[in-house]
Amino acid sequence: MRPEVFARFAVAVVALGGLATYFAGAAPVASQQVRPAAGTCQSGPNTLGVSRVVDIDATQGPRFGGVQYRDHDFLQDGEVVLTFDDGPHPKYTVPILDALDEQCVKATFYMVGRQALAFPKYAREVGRRGHTIGTHTWSHRNLARSSAEQMRAEIELGISAVQVALGGPTAPFFRFPYLAAPNTAQQMLQQRDTANVSIDVDSHDFRTRSPSRMISNVMNGLKSKRKGIILFHDIQPSTALGIRQLLAELKSHGYRVVHMRPKQTQSTIAEFDKRIERTHTPPNLEVAAGPVAHRGVTAPNWETQSAQHPRPVAAAPPASAAAPRGRSVDDWRRSVFGGGY
Ligand SMILES: [Zn+2]
Repeated sequence: MRPEVFARFAVAVVALGGLATYFAGAAPVASQQVRPAAGTCQSGPNTLGVSRVVDIDATQGPRFGGVQYRDHDFLQDGEVVLTFDDGPHPKYTVPILDALDEQCVKATFYMVGRQALAFPKYAREVGRRGHTIGTHTWSHRNLARSSAEQMRAEIELGISAVQVALGGPTAPFFRFPYLAAPNTAQQMLQQRDTANVSIDVDSHDFRTRSPSRMISNVMNGLKSKRKGIILFHDIQPSTALGIRQLLAELKSHGYRVVHMRPKQTQSTIAEFDKRIERTHTPPNLEVAAGPVAHRGVTAPNWETQSAQHPRPVAAAPPASAAAPRGRSVDDWRRSVFGGGY
């Protein structure tokens, strides 16, 4: 556990909650002007900066993102929210964080549980730099092809795993892998007071290795909408290489960045915490936090659980999920996530 990480999250959440003013009584979104946190970058005329913070009340699981939902749209003309899915990644996450810092902007990272456990150092770095961290299931399984029990395990193991990796709470924000959101799983999120955050604009960074193509995808996507929640992946080289230029383009076109923050922290369920903790005790986490070169991409091995602790319904990571050294990240990603988001 890292008390200072806990403290940072807690202070930020409490401070934002205290300052918040609702637009309307029942709306899940509140807004405030930005006050730069001490020790962060110096926002100025040459940086994009965060123009506005929205505080999301995740009670009863509100839904966002115009590609799928019309329930809530808190963005004004010219406003964008930056989101990065599927990480953290040992090679690409930090360069993206550096580019965001250069422009004094904040984003939301939707982490995959086993990625966060494999690379806790990078998960913590995202939190240390003040970004919002939501979750994106345990293993990036397509929940539209899962039983209700599997849905629940994927959602809950993802939440518990990311929180163990961070040593602190996540935001109660969730994004469905492949944006595949079956009604049963949506109801689970609502019952867990967790926001379901879809997208408005897709960078399609997983379809190209070209940063310029990724950038044109985003700018073209914004042309008609003029605002939106933008989807990137911090496991994709086109985003890692192109995000700096993309932010410059957003600034030159007059877009403003909005930071989504939670009014509450995400709770976990003891049953799923225990499943994670059985395979990731603190000493193991310390090992996992060591140099990446000294370990592979690992995940809890449910097959080795004792009989008195039944194996969770979440699909055991396939053998291919553990990347032998020497395989490219893209090979590993394809084997784990397949195509798509
Ligand atoms: Zn994803």
